[in-house]
Amino acid sequence: MFLEAKMDRRSFLKAAGVAGAATLGVLAIEQPVIKALAQGVETPMQEKWVSSVCIQCPAGCGTKVRVINGRAVKIEGNPEHPYSNGKLCPKGYAGLQLLYDVDRVKQPLKRTNPNKGKDEDPKFKPVTWDEALDDIAARMKKLREEGKSHTVAFLSGRNRGSAGAVWTTFTKLYGTPNNLGHSSICADASKKARLCLDGTDDYAAYDWENCNYVLNFGGATLEAWRPTNLMLQRWAHMRRGRPVRAKQVMVDTRFSTTAIKADEWLPVKPGTDGALALGIAHVILTEGLWDRSFVGDFKEKGRKFRTGETVAKEDFEEAWTSGLVDWWNNVLINFTPAKASEITGIPAETIIRVAREFATTKPAIACGERGAGAHTNGTYNHMAIHALNALVGSMFALGGVMYQIGAPYAALSIKDDDYMDDIAKKVDKDFKEHKLERVDEAKSDEWPLASNVYQNIPDNHAEGKPYKLSMIFTYYTNPLFSMPAPQRAWEAFKDVFIVETSSYLSETALYADYILPDTYYLERWHDDRVYPSTGYPVAGLRVPAVKLYDTRNSMEVIIDLGKRMGGKMGEYYNAIGSFENML
Ligand code: SF4
Repeated sequence: MFLEAKMDRRSFLKAAGVAGAATLGVLAIEQPVIKALAQGVETPMQEKWVSSVCIQCPAGCGTKVRVINGRAVKIEGNPEHPYSNGKLCPKGYAGLQLLYDVDRVKQPLKRTNPNKGKDEDPKFKPVTWDEALDDIAARMKKLREEGKSHTVAFLSGRNRGSAGAVWTTFTKLYGTPNNLGHSSICADASKKARLCLDGTDDYAAYDWENCNYVLNFGGATLEAWRPTNLMLQRWAHMRRGRPVRAKQVMVDTRFSTTAIKADEWLPVKPGTDGALALGIAHVILTEGLWDRSFVGDFKEKGRKFRTGETVAKEDFEEAWTSGLVDWWNNVLINFTPAKASEITGIPAETIIRVAREFATTKPAIACGERGAGAHTNGTYNHMAIHALNALVGSMFALGGVMYQIGAPYAALSIKDDDYMDDIAKKVDKDFKEHKLERVDEAKSDEWPLASNVYQNIPDNHAEGKPYKLSMIFTYYTNPLFSMPAPQRAWEAFKDVFIVETSSYLSETALYADYILPDTYYLERWHDDRVYPSTGYPVAGLRVPAVKLYDTRNSMEVIIDLGKRMGGKMGEYYNAIGSFENML
C-alpha cells in the first residue's frame, strides 16, 4: 500500500527542474519543504503514495494519494483498480479541495442558542469529545428509562461498506426501529420493480460492452449513474471502442447531458416512462417480435397477439417467463402506440419504430433509474421497463441484463442478538408484530414493500404520526437540503435534538445541537462494498493518507457511544473494541 521514497535536495531539483522549484519557492514560501529549499537547508523529502478508494459518489473508484512530508498533494487514479482502471472523474481528482476546505468543522461543537430556524445563529462553541459523548449518552439513557428509545432516529445516506451494519446493530441494541435511509428518493423504485417481477430486491448489472442497443429511461449515464466512472468508460467503448457502434435512445423529461450525447431523445411527459414501455411491449407482441426461446410461443404456429383480443392461457406455452398472458389480457391488450402516445407525448410512429429497433437489434438493454423511478408510480414504471428485457430475451444474455451481487462478508465473531437487553427485545418484538411502527411508516401495512419512506419523516414527526421524535442522528445525509420540499423539515425539526456528523457546515448542521465531525475519506480506515454494475462483486478499502484535525471516524464514535451506554450494549461494544478491529 505504501510506497516510501526519500529525496534529498539535489535529486529533488534534478527531478523537478531548477526553474520549476524556484517558481514554487516564490509561490509557496511558507511550505516547510520549500522554505527549507529556499534557505539552502538539506531536508529529506518524505514521499509516499497511499492506495485508497474515493467516496464522493457510490462508484468507489481506486485512488492513489501522493503525500509529501505528511501533506496530501495529489490524487490520481489507481491503474490496478478492477473497474476504474486508473481513471477518475473531475470530483475524484479534486478530492483535496474538501480535505483542505477552510470551512471544515475541526472539532466537536455544541449549540448554545436553543432557538432553531433558518436565520438563527446556532452559536456553536467547541467542546471535547468526552463532553459531547457523555452528554449524548446521558440523554439517550434517559429516553430509554422513559420508554422512549424508539423516538431516537438515525438518518443515513451514503452508508458505505460496513457503515450500514454498524447503524443496524446500534439501533437494534439501543431499541429503536428508526434506522432510516434515503433509498425511497434514490434507487428503490427500480429495485422494488425487480422484487415484484422476479423476487430480486437488488441492483441490476448490464453487459454494456456487448450491447448494441440501449433504451434508457432516465438513467443519467453520463452524469451520475453508478458507477459514474465506469459508465463513462463503457459509453466511450460502445460509441468508439469497437467496430459496431451501439445506438443510444434516451427517454427523459429534460434535454440532459446523456440525452444530448444520445442518438435519439424521447422527451416524455414526467412520470409516463412506464406508459411508453407498455406501448413498446404492445408493438413487440402484436408484431410477433418477442424472443421465443426466452418467452415461449403460441401452440398454434405463427400466431401473434392481436389488439383487443384476449388470449387463453392454455394457448400459450411460456418458457422462462411467467404471467405473460395475464399481462396481455389485463394491461397490454389495448395499450396501443396511439394510447401510449396520448399519455407520453411521444408520436405513435416513433413508438412503433423504436419498438421494432429495440426488438430486432440484438443484444438490446432496457434500463433506467431515477428519471423514471422518482415518481409516485416509479415502481410501476420500472416494472414495465424491466419486463421489456424479458420480451426480447436479454435477461442473463450476452450483451443483456444481469443482477449485481454485493461482496460477501464473513460474520463477526460475536452476535449482536446475544447482547439485546429487555428493552431492545421488546422494541424488536413490537415492531415485528406491527405494534410499533417506524416514524416513516416503512414496512407498515400502508408501505409494506418500502425499505424507507424518507420523504414522510418531517410531516409524520410534525403530526406525531405515529409519534414525535426526540433525537435525530444524521450521517452522510442532509435532510434540510435534500428532502423533497425541504421547507417541511426546516419547520418540523425545530423541536428535535439533532446530532450531526458532517465535517462541513451543511443546512442540517445549522440545526444541530451537537456536531461530531467525521473524518474526511482520506483520513480514515473504511471499507467499501461497491455495486459496479458489472455483475461481479467488489470490495474496496479506504486507507488513511493524512489526518488534519480533531475529527473522528463516525463508526468509531458510534462504537464509543455504545460503550458509554453501558449494560449489555456496552458489553457488546467493549467486545468489538473498535471499527478498525471490526474491519
Ligand atoms: S466517479 Fe465517484 S468515486 Fe469515482 S472518482 Fe468520481 S466521485 Fe470519486
